[in-house]
Amino acid sequence: IKQQPRSFDAPFWRVYQPAIDRDHFNHLRLVRERFAAGGLRVHYQPVVELASGRVVEVEALARLDNGAGQLIPPLDFIHQLGRDGLISLTSAVLNQAVTDALRWQRTLGVELNVAVNVDPVNLASGEALAVVKDTVVVHGFPARRIVLEVLEHSDFLSFASAQDSLAELRAFGCRIALDDIGSAYSSLLRMKELPIDIIKLDQSFIRGLAERPQDLRFVQSLAQLARSLGVDFVAEGAETEDIVEALRALRVPQAQGFGIAMPMPADALGDWLAAWPQRVQSSSRGLLTRI
Ligand code: C2E
Ligand code: MG
Ligand code: MG
Ligand code: MG
Repeated sequence: IKQQPRSFDAPFWRVYQPAIDRDHFNHLRLVRERFAAGGLRVHYQPVVELASGRVVEVEALARLDNGAGQLIPPLDFIHQLGRDGLISLTSAVLNQAVTDALRWQRTLGVELNVAVNVDPVNLASGEALAVVKDTVVVHGFPARRIVLEVLEHSDFLSFASAQDSLAELRAFGCRIALDDIGSAYSSLLRMKELPIDIIKLDQSFIRGLAERPQDLRFVQSLAQLARSLGVDFVAEGAETEDIVEALRALRVPQAQGFGIAMPMPADALGDWLAAWPQRVQSSSRGLLTRI
């Protein structure tokens, strides 16, 4: 079995063992069974405007209930879903997110935008376009309140059909976010050639911000670039309140991370939303109260 080498001295092969196949197969079966059985759970993580503390949107993040009281994180199951499974996932997550957003609107009086991750393979095939349009029509939800997040480094974004889908979704009223900027070998071209509204800088740049002054300058410059391109800019992975403050000092417009809120189920988000203005107001230095 070939593996990617992690370093020059690490082996890039392993001795074949039947157990490897068996584990993969069992996991694949578990994922597909749990997904088909309604095991999908959608958690939400707020994105906040740093200057004001206003909640800009919530990102819907998929989890899978394994049937034994644990949630499987998305990176441990989305690759098992295949192309058909991925579009079912997008459809289910978007429907849930729109339903929850309409409920928060009724019960809390807030009009939140929702961000959903879409695999570019489903953009290239046209399936994502159909799903988004359907959802908007069925729920009567404004397209302008939907953000579609696509991974910047996906090969499928090079397909003309994927770019056409993005353009059409945008014409339909949705906003497009380029996700995880800087997590792989990025190309500035992507930012130039794609019809986008938001760039989300990968958490790898933000997490160690305090220790790496070089990253600080990088984040600041990218925020400036976004500003001059007229696109929104979100820093992901703002893990601590100090990092949130540092980002605000750098005049980074928006942030998302554990330092603001963890991803949480819909009910918990309702409580968090109710408590958040108080937290912002009572803040002694800037946005957040020091605990
Ligand atoms: P993403 O779209 O970049 O989402 C942000 C990820 O960063 C989430 O991980 C979130 O929990 C995590 N995160 C947020 N703040 C912090 C922080 O302060 N520190 C750290 N260490 N992590 C933070 P999660 O939920 O495990 O999702 C991982 C990835 O799985 C997502 O990355 C997205 O690419 C993918 N994904 C999630 N839901 C879906 C979905 O419905 N469809 C598709 N196609 N992909 C999805
Ligand atoms: Mg995302
Ligand atoms: Mg991301
Ligand atoms: Mg990510």
